[in-house]
Amino acid sequence: MCKKKIGIVGVTGSVGSQGAEVILANPNKFDVIFISSHQNHQSLLEYKDKLNAKYALLTSQPSSNQQIIDIIYEEQIDVVLFAGSGVNALPLVYNIICCGIDIALANKEAIVTAGSIIMETARQHNINIIPVDSEHSAIFQCLLGHNKDDVHKMILTASGGPFRLRPIDAFDCIHISEALKHPNWSMGSKITIDSATMMNKGLELIEAKYLFDIDSSKLDVIIHPESIVHSYVSFIDGSTVAQMGLPNMKTPIAFALGYPNRIHSSVPTIDLWNESQLTFYKPDLDKFKCLKIAMDILKTDSNALMTAMNAANEQAVFSFLDGQIQFNDIPVVIEQVLDKVKFNNATNIDEAMSNIYESSRLVSSVIRSYT
Ligand code: NDP
Ligand code: MG
Repeated sequence: MCKKKIGIVGVTGSVGSQGAEVILANPNKFDVIFISSHQNHQSLLEYKDKLNAKYALLTSQPSSNQQIIDIIYEEQIDVVLFAGSGVNALPLVYNIICCGIDIALANKEAIVTAGSIIMETARQHNINIIPVDSEHSAIFQCLLGHNKDDVHKMILTASGGPFRLRPIDAFDCIHISEALKHPNWSMGSKITIDSATMMNKGLELIEAKYLFDIDSSKLDVIIHPESIVHSYVSFIDGSTVAQMGLPNMKTPIAFALGYPNRIHSSVPTIDLWNESQLTFYKPDLDKFKCLKIAMDILKTDSNALMTAMNAANEQAVFSFLDGQIQFNDIPVVIEQVLDKVKFNNATNIDEAMSNIYESSRLVSSVIRSYT
């Protein structure tokens, strides 16, 4: 089999570094052509050595996006693992899709903000977007060989995060260090806070809507604290297909990089007899207000509101991590921003970028009132 020529955006992050490990565990399957970090120069150079990458770029540099696109064309890259974080990475996601190559996409903020634009562009360029997010990887796998019209429901599982059992009246004294302790998954700090507020699941519902072109009425969330069932799809004939595995991102990363083949990830398969019990609960939407906000916005179909919600959440999370606002302020900031949205839905990437800019202005003014 020919080696796949691959590029990794965000190699220094949690997903990117695990992607690098998967690649190193499959030495005959990949040629790493380029890697990037945003500003972490030192770690980028270490990965360049480890992966024997031809190019290493810093995406914080103004010309870097064009350089990546030039490399993709010149080196005829087959697939990019997109593990760069945040909505600011949207133009690069879009430009890579326009190159007409497959993308193993971890970044969810870009899809939440510009889902229909990205998916329409992917269709025009006839490329695969292979999700890396574990729930979407699970659903993608559950759908293989099935007709999407036969789907009854797509259910995203959620661990419930570190505060699943914490009483609602003890939410006002949550410390940053408690919110950063995820019970099952090891991830970057922004997504770890999103898991603690359960906004992560809200973003993932919107991500699923666009990735799988499914009506929001067919999407739902279930709490599954053991994180063994990564999501499931039920069909009109009464069958339910689930994907299971240990909670380790290397499995969905390996699936996305190997697709349509399976490759080694170094993650052991589960022995179900070792799992004493698998439990499932309904989410508490009074306690997890961010999830409630996202579920309401999912139903509106408005990318203007999705963009504002995502931007407000992103800045609110970083403000919480900086100690500027409290954990409980995160949903309040988001609601205050949503109340101020006056811009229209975006129909192309430039309009999406202008809505991001406008959202970020609104969020800054709201957060300023807290300090
Ligand atoms: P991290 O914060 O650990 O890493 C982010 C990576 O992206 C770093 O390499 C960083 O570079 C780079 N980066 C930062 N800003 C930009 C930018 N504007 N453009 C391109 N690259 C950038 O994040 P995670 O690995 O946790 O998450 C990455 C993405 O994957 C997020 O969108 C997240 O929502 C999604 N995701 C993550 C999961 C996880 O398990 N961690 C699970 C599912 C989805 P530098 O080091 O220089 O700052
Ligand atoms: Mg996920």
